[in-house]
Parts: sequence; C-alpha cells; structure tokens
Amino acid sequence: MIKRSFFALSKPRLTYDLLDTSLQSAEELAVPGSLTLLLPEEIDSAKKALIGPGDAVKKGQKLKLYDDSRSYVLSPVAGTIKGLDSYSDDFGNPATYVMIKSDPSVKGDDQWAQLDLDETLEFAADYLEQLPGALPVSTLTNPNYDIRTIVVTGADTDILCDTCQFVCTSYAGLMVAGAKILKRMTRADRFCITVPENLSAQVDLDGFNVLRTSNTYPSNLPAMVMKDHFGKTLSPGQAPEDKGVCFIRPEVLVSLARTYETGRPVFDKVITLIDKGGQKHRVKAAIGTPISKIFTCFNVQINERDRIIIGGPMRGFATYTVHHPVVPDMDTIIVQDADVVPEISDNACINCGNCVRICPANVPVNLLVRYLEANLYDEAADRFDLESCIECGLCSYVCRAKIPVYQYIRLGKQELLTLRENA
Ligand code: SF4
Ligand code: SF4
Repeated sequence: MIKRSFFALSKPRLTYDLLDTSLQSAEELAVPGSLTLLLPEEIDSAKKALIGPGDAVKKGQKLKLYDDSRSYVLSPVAGTIKGLDSYSDDFGNPATYVMIKSDPSVKGDDQWAQLDLDETLEFAADYLEQLPGALPVSTLTNPNYDIRTIVVTGADTDILCDTCQFVCTSYAGLMVAGAKILKRMTRADRFCITVPENLSAQVDLDGFNVLRTSNTYPSNLPAMVMKDHFGKTLSPGQAPEDKGVCFIRPEVLVSLARTYETGRPVFDKVITLIDKGGQKHRVKAAIGTPISKIFTCFNVQINERDRIIIGGPMRGFATYTVHHPVVPDMDTIIVQDADVVPEISDNACINCGNCVRICPANVPVNLLVRYLEANLYDEAADRFDLESCIECGLCSYVCRAKIPVYQYIRLGKQELLTLRENA
C-alpha cells in the first residue's frame, strides 16, 4: 500500500507589507548631544591619525583617519571628538566609531560654502557617499561596470518593511529632482522604480519606468527583479552591476536633491521602528544618533535578551547594543521580545528537505550547509552553488532543525572572498 499524505507539501508564502498609511509623517528626533559615526576603516596604530580626542569639528566636516584613507564620514554637528573606538560587524569586518560631542558654539563649516557642488561621480565619491540612503559610489565608479540602468527600490526588499514605500510617496518631487542629478553624474540612461503591484497610494514619478512587483517574497530582491523584469538571470557570483544595473534606495535621490538645492549635506535618515507588539513608528533621526534615542522617543523598553534587528526579519542582522548608531543604509529596526525570539540551534541537519524545496535559486542547501559548517568554502562554491544564493533567507526560515543557514551562507561568501583575495 502506498502511504501518501492527503496534503501536498506546500511552500510557506510570505508576503511583503504594503505601506502603512496610518503613519502619514515621520517624527523628527532632535539631534542628540553625543553622536557616534561609523567610519568603515579600522584604526591602524602604526599610522598617525588625522583626527583624535579633543579635536574640534564643524558641521559637515569630512573626517577621515589617515592621509591615504578613502573612507570618510561627515559630521552632522559642530562639536568636539570625544574618542575613537574599534568596531567590528557581525562578520568581523573592522571599522571605527568616531564619537562626537555636539557643541553649537563651534562655528559652522565654511568648507561647503567654498565647494563647487559638481554633478560628477568624482565629487560624489569625495563628499556624498555617506548621505542618507547610502549612494553606492564604489559601484558607480567601478571601471569594470558599465552602469546604464538604475533601479530604485520603491518596493521594500524585506517583509514587514515599508520605509522605501513611505519615501516614494512622501518625497516624489525630490526623487525626480535627485534622479536628474544622478543621470547627469552617471552614464545611466534608464531609471526604473519597483512599486508593489497592489500599492494604492499614488506614486507620481515622472521619468521613471515603473516595474510593478508581486507581493510575494522574495520578488523585490535585485536578483528576482533582474530575472522577472529584465529577463536576465545572474550567473553564480554575478551581481546586477555585472549586467549594467545598479540598485539604489529612493532616499538617495531625496538626499541628493536636498544637498544640491541647499549646497549643504543632509543628515536626517528616515527609519521605521517596529516595536515588540508589531506596531510601526516612523522617525527621522540624524546619522550618528544612538538607536537608544529612538527607543526612548517611542517608549520602547529594551530588556535583557530582547533582540534588536537592523533591517528586515529575513535579511537583517542582530545588534546587541542600544548604542549602535543610525547609519546611511539603515531603513528598519525591529525589536523582538526575548520570549518570542526564534530559537537557533546547533542541531545537525535532519534532511527534511524544506530548504531545498523553498530555495528560489535551486541551491542544494542541505548539502551546502554541511560544507559551510565544516568551513569548506571552495568546495561549497564549486560543488554546491554557494554563489548562486540570492540571500533571501527563506532556508533559515523553514529549517526544521533551526540551523542559521542564511548566516552560514553569508559568512561563507565573505570567507570565500577573503580566500580569493589572498590567493
Ligand atoms: S538564502 Fe537560502 S533559500 Fe535563499 S537563495 Fe540562498 S540558499 Fe536559497
Ligand atoms: S531545512 Fe534544515 S534540517 Fe531541513 S534539510 Fe535544510 S538544513 Fe537540513
């Protein structure tokens, strides 16, 4: 007798959130007395630093660690540097916290008054990389890419998130102006924008090709947009920019428009906070603001073992400090109560096959994860399609053994890159 379930195995269907129209505007948070800027370069004690504790900084001043540094931050306030500290992200990539105490008595920066705000990528690389929304300067200036199409992610890429939709519906005029500036800076001759197919709110964007995306996760991810809307499937290891397409946040365009209009950089970042009860709050906070200030603003109490996720639930990362600052690419913060934080285990794979069935890139995830657990990154790439993964996180979501598969994959990709750089 054939034993067969009456129910076919069905994939869980995750859907994107549509814009929460009850949040008409973003609460403006006052710039705090102390800010922390995240400078993506590590402290090198063998070199003489250009900045240090006690140095006065002006609003808008470009701060970099060393003469030959490419990385920099712009100070959102006038004040004094309190200190520098080492930071490393969840994959151990080193960076530096630059802590600034605001002091309004320090004079404004005259550097920006004397600058010619050229509409060039060279100028953008020198001054605009840290604007809210995070202009992907390194992609746009990379001579290996011939970027002809820019896609604005008007449809948020992770579930529960709606910050990008909010920006598109609230600042459409500025986005159109920003797109014109970016068009003059780059060789891109086509601007597209992803918009959820069932978003009823008006998105009035003159000059953009609108790409209506399905509400089923992960259709808003760049690799899926490339396939579904441009008919281009990315080969393993390829990124959209390899095919001449660059994805940007809508807020980048708003920041560009405001900066060129006023001749001064802008610093206020739109963020959506999702509290423990799932309620959304919209805020505008200066880059460098500790996220604790946002929690205080909305009376969100953080207790021991609560989880703070930067980004969406599928693709975000956890931070364990409320002192983590607002950074240019931070769109969403989610707070999960300790009691409901999904468990993660070091259990072995039970070969249930859920991850394989759900993977949109057809990666043999059950085999891949064994190689990643054993730190066999080359083999994982050569034999089990590590580089075909589009980083949707669905495998972790469905894993019966609660293995943090997605985290293994991201770490594996990072390690693979390091191995190749050092080869
Ligand atoms: S994150 Fe997992 S499910 Fe998503 S593409 Fe990668 S391997 Fe497949
Ligand atoms: S979902 Fe988890 S337990 Fe099931 S096969 Fe994949 S890795 Fe193994």
